[in-house]
Amino acid sequence: MGKINETTRGKLRESLGEVLQAGGTYTEAYAAVQGVFEGRRGNAGTIARTEMAGAFNYAGLDAARQSGVVTGKSWLTTDDELVRESHSECEAEGEIAVDDEFTNGLQFPGDPDGDPEDVCNCRCTLLYGTDETRVRRLKERVASTGRKLRMADPMPDVPLEEWLGCLKR
Ligand SMILES: [Zn+2]
Repeated sequence: MGKINETTRGKLRESLGEVLQAGGTYTEAYAAVQGVFEGRRGNAGTIARTEMAGAFNYAGLDAARQSGVVTGKSWLTTDDELVRESHSECEAEGEIAVDDEFTNGLQFPGDPDGDPEDVCNCRCTLLYGTDETRVRRLKERVASTGRKLRMADPMPDVPLEEWLGCLKR
């Protein structure tokens, strides 16, 4: 898994910015990120899920930083038996500063700077903001629908801005 280079970084920033400007949803943001990666790879085949998830979390974190209103981030696992113990520990940490590392040394789930054993097939997600109730609300939603939280569409109808926890109020 390669690092996210400057060109890709710039494209991610641009794509995410457009989605944000248009008041787009999480799903649209995901599609935009996917588009950037497909463009980079050409038709070279499937995009590794791990890299995609890492890039998505990276892009979200980058957008959150740029928003200037997000100060914290929380690690959210899918809360099932497959979750790494170290990732449950990150989740238990609760909210930390945007630029801090979680206990496993990663900045976000799928961080390309992490060891493969700590990122491969990770299904964890990053949440932003200062709102702990947000994590609870999500967990409740997952529990009530009986559906596991998935990267592809954890909350398709949530505007991206809300998803990023841009607490402008
Ligand atoms: Zn994980």
